[in-house]
Amino acid sequence: MPIKIKQICKVYGLQKAVDNISFELKKGEIVGLLGPNGAGKSTLIKIITGYIKQDSGNVIICDINTLEENLKIKEKIGYLAENNPLYLDMFVIEYLNFIADTYHIRNKKTRIIDVIKQTGITNEKRKTIRMLSKGYKQRVGIAAALIHNPEVLILDEPTSGLDPNQLLEIRSLIKNIGKNKTVLLSTHIMQEVDKICSRIIVINKGKIVGDRSIKNIQEKNINLEEYFYSLTK
Ligand code: ADP
Repeated sequence: MPIKIKQICKVYGLQKAVDNISFELKKGEIVGLLGPNGAGKSTLIKIITGYIKQDSGNVIICDINTLEENLKIKEKIGYLAENNPLYLDMFVIEYLNFIADTYHIRNKKTRIIDVIKQTGITNEKRKTIRMLSKGYKQRVGIAAALIHNPEVLILDEPTSGLDPNQLLEIRSLIKNIGKNKTVLLSTHIMQEVDKICSRIIVINKGKIVGDRSIKNIQEKNINLEEYFYSLTK
């Protein structure tokens, strides 16, 4: 199982940001982590990617416990952080080289060519990142997250702020990537999840309040917006 989350808790002062969350993700799943603002999505994602430590519970990525081998986990996970922090003054190709170096990738040149193709940024590779549209900046962020060919891809709000065309393109890119990886993405855009995800996990006030496959939602004719509202109101 690529991702196993077991009884994760994280408290800030009196606030339980993540309150006893457990779930497992299989290979090939694209799972949408949904919840209103403040539900605990970003905190959970930062714990899964090893950027902050949980107070209790375990995250097992590809059989490795994040608490025991924090660096090894980084090889297994590709992570696109919220707001996609990039070095805007770098050229696209220069940035990807820099990220590849941080992972000590041996077949660096081939990997860079591969991710550039995969994310559709061939025509932008010699531009500075600042010059790119938001959609293309997202692609560069996704290319960087894929550079070390991780088994698991974690995307925090990957489509926020995109225009309708960019949205369609990034969705189809994520769907393609999800064919042979495990993808966990957070979003608060309801209309999005059935277009990208195979399953949704809804969290509210730090707890899981819903976990269903999109197939089940479609078979039961559940209206996603009403379902979400009934779980998080
Ligand atoms: P979401 O990503 O779903 O919007 P967050 O994980 O950012 O939610 O936040 C969950 C809760 O934890 C919120 O109430 C937020 O105010 C609180 N929180 C998040 N990070 C911190 C922090 N560094 N210090 C104190 N409280 C925090």
